[in-house]
Amino acid sequence: MDKTDRLRELDKLYVWHPFTRMREWLEGEPLIIERAEGVYLIDTDGRRYIDGVSSLWVTVHGHRKRELDRAIKEQLRKVAHSTLLGLGNVPSILLAERLVRIAPKGLTKVFYSDNGSTAVEIALKLAFYYWQKRGLPEKKRFLAFTGAYHGDTIGTMSVGEIDVFVGRYRPLLFPSYRAPYPYCYRCPVGKTYPDCAIACLERLEAVLKRSHERIAACIIEPFVQGAAGMVVAPTGFLKGVRRLTKKYNVLLIADEVATGFGRTGRMFACQWDDVSPDLMCLAKGITGGYLPLAATLSTEAIFRAHLGTKRSPDAFYHGHTYTGNPLACSVALANLEVFEKERVLDRMQPVVELFSQLLEGFRELKHVGDVRYKGLMAGIELVEDKRTKKPYRVELRMGNRVCMKARDKGVIVRPLGDTIVVMPPLSIKKRELRALLSAIYESIREVTEGASR
Ligand SMILES: *Cc1c(COP(=O)(O)O)cnc(C)c1O
Repeated sequence: MDKTDRLRELDKLYVWHPFTRMREWLEGEPLIIERAEGVYLIDTDGRRYIDGVSSLWVTVHGHRKRELDRAIKEQLRKVAHSTLLGLGNVPSILLAERLVRIAPKGLTKVFYSDNGSTAVEIALKLAFYYWQKRGLPEKKRFLAFTGAYHGDTIGTMSVGEIDVFVGRYRPLLFPSYRAPYPYCYRCPVGKTYPDCAIACLERLEAVLKRSHERIAACIIEPFVQGAAGMVVAPTGFLKGVRRLTKKYNVLLIADEVATGFGRTGRMFACQWDDVSPDLMCLAKGITGGYLPLAATLSTEAIFRAHLGTKRSPDAFYHGHTYTGNPLACSVALANLEVFEKERVLDRMQPVVELFSQLLEGFRELKHVGDVRYKGLMAGIELVEDKRTKKPYRVELRMGNRVCMKARDKGVIVRPLGDTIVVMPPLSIKKRELRALLSAIYESIREVTEGASR
């Protein structure tokens, strides 16, 4: 038995994969990654694949980036882990200072955790307690958007809305208020952009007007709803959300877990609309895709609400064992240094330009209903009938079939339903980007036009 077969057998015996139909997995021949280099993943048989989804939206400067490898090695010579409960550590301090420096203004404090879901849970708890201390205890609910995804824990599922993920757990969840996200291809208020003048904001205002006394915070994925299928909001929507949340005395939580660290072409998506949220959640790209780390950034006001008084001191009673892990913080620092030294945000602009040009070409395909993108995040929505926008039957699993076809062409992508997600590392070269998109183009064509069922 060769190495790959043996590993496959062990994987099937012992590993339970996330968001995976294990029944199918056990019957398939899973691909096992052993190494990587730049934008390429390399499997146990030495085959190379372009990492078209940045290893689930995390890889920023490519794999095995020398500066990031080195940061971890250097930190290893000092200390791998030391707790933030009652102690400080060097990289967590330097990183916090740096994050505050690049964040939208008003965010001055950094609370660490280790994944996107915890970063959001923390924001929800901070927002809730803030109003308790401000003497408005009825403000204890959250307002979230249709199609939202904020993580897989109980609290984050409660503000999430994607039915396949959260539907079965609903009896466990707390209720949230809901307003429509501008999914312009299938407009929730039946209008067309830009004639609509972003009319969905009126629906948001209606909810706020009626219920603001019970709402602690509004949580949003700024500009791009990732898991909903890379739904891109028009410029001005986020600004409108900020204006309305201020008007109705509701905090704004920006979940930048997917959009942060250059993904949309700016460091943070909020910066496109010049918006400063009250809380900002960061994870995924924060370490350049190396180690699990997250941060929830807060305003001074929310921080101060948790101080208590001299006679009755208070604390934020929350913390994870690996909070502020020095190895993760040191590679996150190195990640930000690369952004600065290599002027990544400037240098990616021609690649972003090429990306949009190539993506526009997908509209000519017979079963591509919509193409949405911002920066280097894109979703290509497949439909059975372009004229009526009728989706494919779910059982056909067209998105999945396209991605499996792309794998044969040396590309790793993962669909969200029938939307093909394309999210390469920011470091991708033009030549690699062309290869990636042409493999996806051909895969869509072959699967949707070859096999009409
Ligand atoms: C991925 C994601 C999360 C959850 O992050 P995990 O690290 O998987 O827990 C939360 N919000 C958004 C917008 C995400 O894309």
